[in-house]
Amino acid sequence: MWVSPPSPTSCIARESGLGKSTLINSLFLTNLYEDRQVPEARARLTQTLTIERRGVEIEEGGVKVKLTLVDTPGFGDSVDCSGCWLPVVRFIEEQFEQYLRDESGLNRKNIQDSRVHCCLYFISPFGRGLRPLDVAFLRAVHEKVNIIPVIGKADALMPKETQALKQKIREQLQEEEINIYQFPDCDSDEDEDFKRQDAEMKESIPFAVVGSCEVVRDGGTRPVRGRCYSWGTVEVENPHHCDFLNLRRMLVQTHLQDLKEVTHDLLYEGYRARCLQSLARPGARDRASRSKLSRQSATEIPLPMLPLADTEKLIREKDEELRRMQEMLEKMQAQMQQNQAQGEQSDAL
Ligand code: GDP
Repeated sequence: MWVSPPSPTSCIARESGLGKSTLINSLFLTNLYEDRQVPEARARLTQTLTIERRGVEIEEGGVKVKLTLVDTPGFGDSVDCSGCWLPVVRFIEEQFEQYLRDESGLNRKNIQDSRVHCCLYFISPFGRGLRPLDVAFLRAVHEKVNIIPVIGKADALMPKETQALKQKIREQLQEEEINIYQFPDCDSDEDEDFKRQDAEMKESIPFAVVGSCEVVRDGGTRPVRGRCYSWGTVEVENPHHCDFLNLRRMLVQTHLQDLKEVTHDLLYEGYRARCLQSLARPGARDRASRSKLSRQSATEIPLPMLPLADTEKLIREKDEELRRMQEMLEKMQAQMQQNQAQGEQSDAL
């Protein structure tokens, strides 16, 4: 997901039919997937995952926000889902790798940031919590991207069922030690209304959402986005019906900047540190990756490394940069001392 400039990217993952496209269209009031070809059930059994990027521009409080959405059609659709998350992991890491290269290039002030700043992971409302595939995927990406879990098609559940499913998912995430996006603490100077909204948002994770591309009348004359049933209308933007508004607010208003900062300061820095560490200890890296691979876990795929020559060049450039900064610092200190001495002299006079 991106703002211009720089530009954030968000990834949407989970199998077909959970309402991802509809939700994205509802979130960004667009028809992003009108050209989409939905494969038939038989074709989906053998379908492989593809990664599709689409740009969307929305206006939020008078500010134009550009977003890139990365969809993963085919994820979890095939009969054999083993390792189907690997292309997603690879994609996320490739964006880090590209950023690392750009950062050490000459034109580093104008880097096109294609790193994935958040991953909306859709969980089925029909299961009893996270399935093994969910756990495997989330484990594979949780150190690399901000995960925001979302229960799709939440109108399939009664409020009590929604709360029970949320609770179950929260427990599973904790048991499996999966780190999802941690909402920052609210500033104590903020007004009570803002604090209440923030607390509500945190409590509603995983967000239970309903999507609809249709504008319906809610019984009166007010047109709303919703889904009509014989017993009534589910309104997408009604906080008593689902968490859509909370999700939208955090994604495009309140937490956009934090998602970008966490990506840069924690997730990307973690990737960069791992790259440099494994370069410093090449023998240790080989041993670690060999023992990890045998455990067949997604988190444990070896990191895509920069070619050795490139990484060495990068380190040399960083050393050179540090040396220049050190020199500049020394010059500034000398200048300050000189200014101070001159000041003392004129005071004495
Ligand atoms: P995707 O394959 O995950 O992108 O799913 P789609 O967005 O294409 O939705 C699949 C079907 O589910 C469509 O018929 C949608 O109209 C329907 N759908 C989408 N969102 C919801 C929802 O929130 N509730 C219900 N009941 N149906 C939904």
